[in-house]
Amino acid sequence: MSEAHDSGQASGAAAAAALAAAVLSGDTRAAARACRLVDDVRPGHAELLAALYERSTASWLIGVTGSPGVGKSTLTSRLVQHFRAQGGRVAVVAVDPSSPFSGGAILGDRIRMQAHWSDPDVFVRSVATRGAHGGLSRTTADIARVLAAWGARVVLIETVGVGQDELDVMRVADTTLVVQAPGAGDDIQAAKAGLLECADVFAVNKADLPGADNVAENLRSMLALGAVTASAAWSAGSRGHSAASLSGAIEQHAASDDWQVPVLPCVATRDEGIEPLVEQLAAHHRWCTGSALGLAQRRERLTEELYGRVREALVIEMLERHRSELDAIAQQVQRGELDPYAATRVLLERWLGRPA
Ligand code: GDP
Repeated sequence: MSEAHDSGQASGAAAAAALAAAVLSGDTRAAARACRLVDDVRPGHAELLAALYERSTASWLIGVTGSPGVGKSTLTSRLVQHFRAQGGRVAVVAVDPSSPFSGGAILGDRIRMQAHWSDPDVFVRSVATRGAHGGLSRTTADIARVLAAWGARVVLIETVGVGQDELDVMRVADTTLVVQAPGAGDDIQAAKAGLLECADVFAVNKADLPGADNVAENLRSMLALGAVTASAAWSAGSRGHSAASLSGAIEQHAASDDWQVPVLPCVATRDEGIEPLVEQLAAHHRWCTGSALGLAQRRERLTEELYGRVREALVIEMLERHRSELDAIAQQVQRGELDPYAATRVLLERWLGRPA
């Protein structure tokens, strides 16, 4: 490695340490700079994140997801208001490109958000990077941690509930709030899109509109069915479900300290039902940090994150290191001289120095 490269790295690390100290002191402009550094994956970003990590673990990351138009942004704005009223700093990371938080909104929404923009203890940041260096969920986690280290007691991560990338983003959060609304068969969509599995709390927004009760009822029965099936499968093993094993499973599930996903109606535009929602979110946070199952889940998420980061770093490193070789073999595949399976085997054998 060249001397110039070495000294470049050293000054990057020194600058990162200074920036980390400024973020930890609660400096808002430093936090904005740190977010840019992380988003652009500039030199020193890894050192910066490492220096911020410990402090950031004290924060509470809440994911807010749901289809476009269900009222996520309106609700997020309400949640910011309620958390701010409890004291402490609050941050929003907007992954949803149509969110007014990330600037893609119509004028009315922008005006609605202005209340928070003038509050120095609310930090709003959108995530620009989409898979350039590592996935969306990684960048989101990193930005959320910068804002947590800046002093946000709560970091709300808002994202559209469609696509695997967006579901992965929710794995970053301690608590996932899935927002539904009457109309457009959203509850059925939730089951299909895997939202049912990732929800810790459901909000049925637009409860002022007809059909909200139905959405809530459907969600509750789908959740009950899911819980019973999972429990029964676990207790019955491969013996199949008898009536006795099913009712046993129901009792067992109810008695366990597993989290029971609540379904709460609300009207975000009128600030109705937000207080009970905040209470349930807080109850989930207590469960996460205070129960054996919650803590185990957290450890599992951290391990998963580590695997993901190592996998991404290895792939990027290997592809960059062997780009020309890879291009050459890709051309052989295009010309029909090699099939993709043989080409993969050839490359792996070369790189690993042994039969793949
Ligand atoms: P997002 O796309 O999920 O972020 O949804 P928005 O927050 O932008 O809201 C979409 C539309 O639904 C806006 O016109 C809101 O004013 C409206 N909306 C939000 N919450 C409610 C509610 O509780 N009741 C009704 N009737 N409309 C709402």
